[in-house]
Amino acid sequence: MPQTVRIVSLLLLATLSGVALAQSSSGLTVVNTIPIIDRKSTLNPPSAPSNLTAHDNGIQYHGGPVLSTAQGVNVYFIWYGNWSSPSDRAAQSIVTDFIKNLGGSPYFNINTTYYDSGAGGLDPVRNRVNYIGSTTDNYSHGTALVDQDLGGIIEQPIMSGTFPLDQNGAYFVITSADVDETSGFCTTYCAFHGVDVLTPFRSIASALRSPSSVNVPVAFVGNPDRCPAFCAWQDELPTPNNNVAGDGMVNLIAHELSETVSDPRGTAWYSFNQKPKGQENGDLCQWTFGQTTNLPNGSFYNVTLGDRNYLLQRIWVNALGGYCSLSWVNGAN
Ligand SMILES: [Zn+2]
Repeated sequence: MPQTVRIVSLLLLATLSGVALAQSSSGLTVVNTIPIIDRKSTLNPPSAPSNLTAHDNGIQYHGGPVLSTAQGVNVYFIWYGNWSSPSDRAAQSIVTDFIKNLGGSPYFNINTTYYDSGAGGLDPVRNRVNYIGSTTDNYSHGTALVDQDLGGIIEQPIMSGTFPLDQNGAYFVITSADVDETSGFCTTYCAFHGVDVLTPFRSIASALRSPSSVNVPVAFVGNPDRCPAFCAWQDELPTPNNNVAGDGMVNLIAHELSETVSDPRGTAWYSFNQKPKGQENGDLCQWTFGQTTNLPNGSFYNVTLGDRNYLLQRIWVNALGGYCSLSWVNGAN
């Protein structure tokens, strides 16, 4: 997929050059996308990197911040479009249950192998995910979105006070199946994470001691019902929770949230060992699932959180030489 390679590389270069994070009145920058998986032409899932060197774990630190505050990452959902059908509501329940049970799990604990340096030394990502809440957006920017529309969609509930302006937050825009993202959803990517630069009201700015603008982590998660063969691994029923969109979205959210905490601005943890350059901890293992277990309904899963089973991609462990895994527990896999 040469086109995918080109776009990911360009976006990363823009971020690294500093152009992307230049202060402006408002603007959204994509840090990293999840490329679609074209299973018609890819019989085997992509393999993890094998050309590791002895002195690192296959993913390198580039000096920027991770999300490492002690209270963990705060997650906000914006359900964009029409989520009124029974199937849509079921998808919302699956995704909400997933995020409520993700923090503290052996799966999310993989992200604690990533760190930056704080006042007291190395400051790791915490195994905490706080689901703060959700809101809805009834097509405020229509059904054909561009990247900058996402900035506006995220800013609206912040400006209205529905959500706080939270630099430790991860704001997810999740779209209904009739909504496109014209920069490449379903043609080159399924989801992405990035940074939105907001200029807060003066009172908020002074409270944050931030004179002009604030960077907040954001993510776009497209609806796999729009292109299930490209963005859902189990692309027709049955799926673990009998919902192609919901079961597909949790996998995309797992990827983007892991990358948001370990590399929120595209300046912290990514690998140059593989092409395309700039692979983050989700990218290194994307569309690989490890050991799976069959369910009575004919589907399969690999992670249980709360009362539900999910099929989640593996995440790169930044320890023991580096590898893809579904868990990290007390210094072992
Ligand atoms: Zn990614």
